[in-house]
Amino acid sequence: MKIDDLLKEYRSVWAIDHARSLLEWDLEVNMPVEGASPRGEALAQLTLVRREHLLRLRDLVSKYEDAKDLTEFERGVIRVLKREMKYYTSIPPEILEELDRTTTKAAVVWREAKKEANFEKFKPYLSKIVELERVIADKLGYEGHPYNALLDLYEEGFTVNDADNVFNTLLPNLKSILEKVLSEGRYPSKHPLEDVPYDVNVMKSINEELLKILEMPVGSRFRMDVSAHPFTISMAINDVRITTRYEGKDFRSTMFSVIHESGHAMYELMIDPSLEMTPVGRGVSMGVHESQSRFWENIIGRSREFVHLIYPLLKERLPFLRDYGEEDIYRYFNIVRPSLIRVDADEVTYNFHIALRYEIEKGVIAGKLDVSDLPSLWNDFMDKYLGVRPRNDAEGVLQDIHWSQGSFGYFPTYTLGNVIAGMIYAKLPGLRDKVANRMFNEIKEFLRDRICKYGAIYPPKELLMRSFNDTYNPTHLLNYLREKYLG
Ligand code: MG
Repeated sequence: MKIDDLLKEYRSVWAIDHARSLLEWDLEVNMPVEGASPRGEALAQLTLVRREHLLRLRDLVSKYEDAKDLTEFERGVIRVLKREMKYYTSIPPEILEELDRTTTKAAVVWREAKKEANFEKFKPYLSKIVELERVIADKLGYEGHPYNALLDLYEEGFTVNDADNVFNTLLPNLKSILEKVLSEGRYPSKHPLEDVPYDVNVMKSINEELLKILEMPVGSRFRMDVSAHPFTISMAINDVRITTRYEGKDFRSTMFSVIHESGHAMYELMIDPSLEMTPVGRGVSMGVHESQSRFWENIIGRSREFVHLIYPLLKERLPFLRDYGEEDIYRYFNIVRPSLIRVDADEVTYNFHIALRYEIEKGVIAGKLDVSDLPSLWNDFMDKYLGVRPRNDAEGVLQDIHWSQGSFGYFPTYTLGNVIAGMIYAKLPGLRDKVANRMFNEIKEFLRDRICKYGAIYPPKELLMRSFNDTYNPTHLLNYLREKYLG
């Protein structure tokens, strides 16, 4: 291969990523509390080492940048490396260090502020982070809106124009779907099973069965553990791990974490093995990644067919389901309720939570909104979109960790995940029958061929165009929701 020397040099970057992933996984799953501070330092040092190693590739990247006759794989490698280098070279290291220092402190302050529902406490940190994010946007450069620079970090090539298109189509239609669902009452806004406690060991055994049903390669290429916040992490294409948590009641929550994270894991597991240890051997973007998890969690996991498939298992292991039929479980899995907290939101209301965050981020990054105004702005948006109003900032503007970490531009990718999942639903032939007949391998093959196997070879828009002849098109998600909730 033409770029062999580059790939060989890249190995050290890959090895650092591999080690960092393991340290991060261990931090969430195994590490004793007091290990936090040395682990934080080790990860920070490794980030610096990674930067150094990556920048050493500069000459090789420029050598191939304009080369003719590169394969698509090789072009993908160059594109991904150039993007990474741009981040490191266009933002002055002092700014990145300052962001690092600020977010490390902000994480602690945010936790306290949330506990006390005290926005004023968090405000100076948020102001500083916004200021730094605006500098970063400027340094990265952009066309059109400054927020484009930040969106691009999480979803390559995705812009404010694209996002406006998505939300302008979604919001009015979701509003009318939501109104109908609430007035028809076919889907409950509350269910008694939400309050029923379960035996954690029993739920563990059910989750293990779920992994079998989904045909996850447990023990050979995959494992599941417990952590405070569920996540997926890939050490290598043959070593992908997820976690779930056990809240002790409302049993659907741990189950759907398992299915959601399994969707993320399948993406990483189905990347073509030839991309291993290269810059493109990973998921291409946050939105495409989230499409895999949402597709499995919502479109498959919350379907009648899937409920039918797992009902006997649930009934057998959970004694409190004695008086609940299959239809009850389906309705329990599909409660629709305008609520204050994003992570608890259902399929119909979820994207309103993201639209609000998108409008706020776009405004502060453009310098059009002031951080001081965010609490009241947040509450007004909630009222306008969902007709509910936070009683305090803990259930409003302070609820998510993202801003304390400086992750501006990330939230919209959650909606993109839903939108792309809808596109997959529209294109995957006979999905319902496949679920009903437990043909998950055929579903996986479809996803492998259209999305997963390519890793990051193509930028997300190009991948979607190639595989679906469409980009972030929200009409399929709307069709899916209408069919399910109003059909
Ligand atoms: Mg996810």
